[in-house]
Formats: sequence, structure tokens, C-alpha cells
Amino acid sequence: MRALVLSACGAAALAASLCASAADKPAPGSLDDALAVMRSHRFVDLTHAFAPGIPHWKGAPNETVKTLYTVGKDGFRINEYCHIGQWGTHVDPPAHFHDGLHTVDQIDPKDMLMPLVVIDVHDKAAKNPDYILSVQDIHSWEQRHGRIPRGAFVAMRTDWSKRWPDDKALANKDAAGVFHYPGWSMPVLKLLYEERGITASGHETTDTDPGAATTKDDYSLESYILGTNHYQIELLANLDQVPEAGALVWVTFPKVENGSGFPARVIAVVP
Ligand SMILES: [Zn+2]
Repeated sequence: MRALVLSACGAAALAASLCASAADKPAPGSLDDALAVMRSHRFVDLTHAFAPGIPHWKGAPNETVKTLYTVGKDGFRINEYCHIGQWGTHVDPPAHFHDGLHTVDQIDPKDMLMPLVVIDVHDKAAKNPDYILSVQDIHSWEQRHGRIPRGAFVAMRTDWSKRWPDDKALANKDAAGVFHYPGWSMPVLKLLYEERGITASGHETTDTDPGAATTKDDYSLESYILGTNHYQIELLANLDQVPEAGALVWVTFPKVENGSGFPARVIAVVP
């Protein structure tokens, strides 16, 4: 009996604490409310349109588009698009580099809507095209906006997307054949993925690794990200039109069965 009384008291205490925490935190509103809030904000498309001839990885063939049916002749229009998965603004799933890890169709839809964190180093990249992101860049952001939220999408802003669609300007190759474009760094990626628990990351350049590394076919930073079973987005656009903090980002792409990459549509909702 005594035990029963104690457990009843425990239940009452638990209920009281639940009520207290519910009172502290307002209940989330309806989805209608959420939609109204979202629609009252500005949407920014972080995606380049793709077509044959856009900049692409040196080892990939160009896109081809074939018209199979036309409105004039057939009453409807159907094109056949032939391109590699890593085409234009695109998603790289873990399986792009690691057999057995998630393919495009295995990415959880809940990991496609996230708080958007923008690490803005465009001034530094303008002065030094070989700039690599430093842990201090992350700490500076956190001093201004607080700790990077768990589950965030972290984008590196370099304004490199303004070079699109000029392939030569994006690659920025010198006379010795060395690429000069900015990239991430291992200490930053480890901090973001292992300590902050972010969901995904992205950048405006063709690669995660800086040009100096990719010149030597060193893609170790990309391999690290994908090896954590998280995805990334490459060739983002318009990061100069979104704030460093406070936006949301939707990352969408078709559900390719066993897919190793595909063009993505990435949209920010800006406060
Ligand atoms: Zn890629």
C-alpha cells in the first residue's frame, strides 16, 4: 500500500512537471498557421537552372536533350533528358562515395527541411581564392547568433556562384594546371557533424575540397561528410540573398531508386 501511495505521488509529481513544461512552451500551432507564417516570408531559390553546356566535373559527359513528342504534332510535349546524377545544383548522398551507405531514395524526408546556417566568407574568398573555412569562422558565427542548431543545414557562402555559368572562372585554373577555388576543412567539418550534430552542408563551388586538393584528385573532405551517412549539396546559388541566421531551407530531389546523386531544388524561406 505504501508503495502504491508513493507511486501515485510520483505520478502526480510527473504530471505536474509535464504541465509546467507544457505551460513554459506554447503548443505548436496548426499546419494552416505554419503555412500562413511561411507564405508571409520571402522565398529565395538557391538553385541554378540546368541545361546542356553548364559547368560540370571534368570526367562527366555533357547533358543531351531529345524531343520525343511535340505539342504541334502530338498534342503534348515530352523530352528525354540524359545527364549524370551530379548535374547542376545537386545532391550527393552518402552512397556517392561509400557502398552500403544511404542512397538518394533512403534520405529521410525529415532531413530535407532544416534551419539554414550561412557561414559568410565571401570577402575572404575574394581576397584569397584558395581560402579554406576555419574553426574561427564557425566560432565567429556562434558569437553573433548562438550555437549552431542541431539538425541545421550549414552553407558556405563564397559568392563563387556569381561565376556561374563560366566554367573557366569557376575552376580558376592557373598556368601550371592548379585549380584555385575555396573549400571546407576537416576541423570545421568534424566540429559541425560530430559536435554540433548538423544534418547536411552545401557550397557554391563544384567541390567540397578546395581546388588545390581536387587538382590532385584529393576528395577526402567530401568522402568524410558522406562517410558520416549525411548528404551534401553542391553548386548552390543566391546565398548572398539570405541571412546568416534565421532562415529555413528545403532541399528537394527526385526519389531515384538506389540513386547515387541527382539534380536538386533548394529553396530558402527568409525571415
Ligand atoms: Zn557532387
